[in-house]
Amino acid sequence: MANNYDFDDDDKDMKASGGGKFKEFDCPDCHANNPVHEPFGDQDEVRCNYCGTEFRVMLSAEGRVKFKEI
Ligand SMILES: [Zn+2]
Repeated sequence: MANNYDFDDDDKDMKASGGGKFKEFDCPDCHANNPVHEPFGDQDEVRCNYCGTEFRVMLSAEGRVKFKEI
């Protein structure tokens, strides 16, 4: 099977796919799902649209994303 990355893949497990960028995140604080206009990656900053908390994106070696409150 060919590795055909689907850019519209709705991956709830938030694993990096196709360049390690994410198009949405679940706020660790209020658990709201936040779609983002600009895909974010490691060391980017994101802000929850619901509670206003800002987080720094930390991408692990396994390609899992973590959020550290700024
Ligand atoms: Zn939030």
